[in-house]
Amino acid sequence: MAKYQSRGTCELCKSSFSKAGMTKHLNSCILKNIGSEDKQNRKRKFFHIVVMGYYEPDYWMHLAVPANTKLQTLDQFLRDIWLECCGHLSAFEINGMRYSVSPMEEYDEIGMNKKIGDILEPGIVFHHEYDFGSTTELGLKVISGFETNIKDMSIKILSRNDAPEIRCDKCGKMATQVCTQCIYEGVGWLCDDCAEDHECDEEMMLPVVNSPRVGVCGYCG
Ligand SMILES: [Zn+2]
Ligand SMILES: [Zn+2]
Ligand SMILES: [Zn+2]
Ligand SMILES: [Zn+2]
Repeated sequence: MAKYQSRGTCELCKSSFSKAGMTKHLNSCILKNIGSEDKQNRKRKFFHIVVMGYYEPDYWMHLAVPANTKLQTLDQFLRDIWLECCGHLSAFEINGMRYSVSPMEEYDEIGMNKKIGDILEPGIVFHHEYDFGSTTELGLKVISGFETNIKDMSIKILSRNDAPEIRCDKCGKMATQVCTQCIYEGVGWLCDDCAEDHECDEEMMLPVVNSPRVGVCGYCG
């Protein structure tokens, strides 16, 4: 994969920023558009949370997540946007506690029926794992807390990365498919033409999608 500067668009003002610039920009753009500083811990509180692929940091998202959101709702949101292929298990790890969709007592896990406002606060870094076999690991960080006048706010995408430009390993055109066999040697990215001539089984091919789970298990976006 060629080196490039990961960029994304702010959904609030439609401006484009680098990955590094986005966090700073959003702080002021949130204040201007949907929130105000949460000084008195008011009711309509939400967190600005950044999520990224733990090993694929070019995939990232900034979210506004209301404090009364349950962990299971955030889990479902991450599945819908980035992760779901065939209903694997998932868990959050926050401050040494494991919150699982299917908690196992022997591993000291508890359930996800918890409001994030009771668990998270600005500055906390935490993890999410989807699929305990071919795991996609996400790193999350609570950037800050705000309050809003928006009624019944649900999880909102503030911005996400533009799709990385991944080139075909054979000819250098934009890759559209990935061979789940060859990806382990780091050479599975192909354009449609080269995919046709590719030696592996057709069933090994998955579409190139804008997610840290691209090319894993049966993930099609
Ligand atoms: Zn903006
Ligand atoms: Zn799967
Ligand atoms: Zn090609
Ligand atoms: Zn192959």
